[in-house]
Amino acid sequence: MTTMAKTKKIKAEKKKTAVKAKTEKKPEKKESKEEQAAHAERGKKTYNLLRGMHDILPKDEKYWKNFFHTAENLAAHFQFNRIETPIVEEAGLFIRSIGRGTDVVDKEMYVFEDRDGDKVCLRPEATASVVRAYILHGMWNMPQPIKLWYWGPMFRYDRPQAGRFRQFMQVGFETIGDPDPSVDAELILQAHNFYTDVGLPVEIHVNSIGTPEERQRYKTALTDFYRAKRSYLCDDCKQRLHKNPLRLLDCKQERCQPVKEDAPQIIDWLSEDSKNHFMKVLEYLDELAVPYVLRSTLVRGLDYYTRTVFEVYPATGEGSAQSALGGGGRYDLLVEEMGGKPMPAAGLALGIERSVSALKQHLERTQTKIILEKADAFMAQLGDQARRRALKMINDLRHSGLRIDYNFAKNSLKSQLETANGMQLPYVLILGQKEVQDGTIIIRDMESGVQEIVDQKKMENTLKRKLGKV
Ligand code: AMP
Repeated sequence: MTTMAKTKKIKAEKKKTAVKAKTEKKPEKKESKEEQAAHAERGKKTYNLLRGMHDILPKDEKYWKNFFHTAENLAAHFQFNRIETPIVEEAGLFIRSIGRGTDVVDKEMYVFEDRDGDKVCLRPEATASVVRAYILHGMWNMPQPIKLWYWGPMFRYDRPQAGRFRQFMQVGFETIGDPDPSVDAELILQAHNFYTDVGLPVEIHVNSIGTPEERQRYKTALTDFYRAKRSYLCDDCKQRLHKNPLRLLDCKQERCQPVKEDAPQIIDWLSEDSKNHFMKVLEYLDELAVPYVLRSTLVRGLDYYTRTVFEVYPATGEGSAQSALGGGGRYDLLVEEMGGKPMPAAGLALGIERSVSALKQHLERTQTKIILEKADAFMAQLGDQARRRALKMINDLRHSGLRIDYNFAKNSLKSQLETANGMQLPYVLILGQKEVQDGTIIIRDMESGVQEIVDQKKMENTLKRKLGKV
């Protein structure tokens, strides 16, 4: 066979496979029950999600992006540096920091033995990991405070329900090495800014739970008070009385409310130092014009908190634990408890799934839309040759900072213009066979419908000028 004949044969075969691939490509669609059964009969299993897990789909990307970019911007403004710690850690790290007797440790940890028989777990939160990293990498030797932020998945083997997943995303900010009340206020400001910047009005609840000694004295007083009212309490509260008396204050049951209203308040058990610290935090918040609600029953679920604690709720929510978007507080003793030098610290963690869902509800209620990052223009192409050239142009324009959307699955100019119109893009670049040959391109102003033919070499500058980007 001659070289020409060989090339012809290869081309013919390529064409055949391309046609085959084209005809074999089926549109994606969800399987019906019958199809699933048929698949099962043929021995092919279709997979579902594990309980409590969820996919984040492209339709929600705009919300997720919005939250991530906001966090990134805030971190830069307030000088927090990003830290990424592993998802899998030694189980003991969380048992020691969060504490036995808490829901997270007793009921919700994803613990398992790895192949070496070591007890490991999927992190239920990241503060303990950040503190581990702070100690391990000698960050206490650097100028303090160390300000860190993270964004990543957490795992809790919780009973799935609305707003509760087994894998969920958290963004967190931690400041280690500064005891000043301004740090607590700065973190509360950070939470406030985070939601204000994405456009979700929130309410921030604050309280102080003092030092462990102050809290212990309060717990005794609380237990004494509740024990005397035991017969009026719900079953859960009867349990809490023995296991974790502070959680009595979280009870939402109707029958426990009158008891709760008369219960002793932690503020009366705080030392002068703790009271002063709290007052200063509030003064900062007043100065910063960050609105807050004083909530004497707010205690948070984890053991390591000291003094200031806070939680964030959607401004329209009733403030049930389930609707908390996030929370945080001081943890002055944790670094030492984890084997480091004594170092005061404070932090916060915000859950993204609940935040996305609250934002969606808010946008729906107020009939507003999220502002999307739009492309600069749309590239419409007509024919094979134009499509090939168009892809190169789109990539070249990307290098010069312009984002061009396209849809090569559409062939007619009409449908491509309709797509661009739907995306509300101001300009469409039209490239047909003739333009490819002439080295030109048409720039169509979508508002006026006016079209201009320009040299391809001048397209970037012309488009930038039209977009006001030069
Ligand atoms: P926490 O430290 O437990 O207060 O969690 C902080 C935030 O993370 C919560 O306010 C939620 O937004 C989020 N979060 C905690 N647990 C879950 C969960 N099981 N599913 C979804 N989000 C969660």
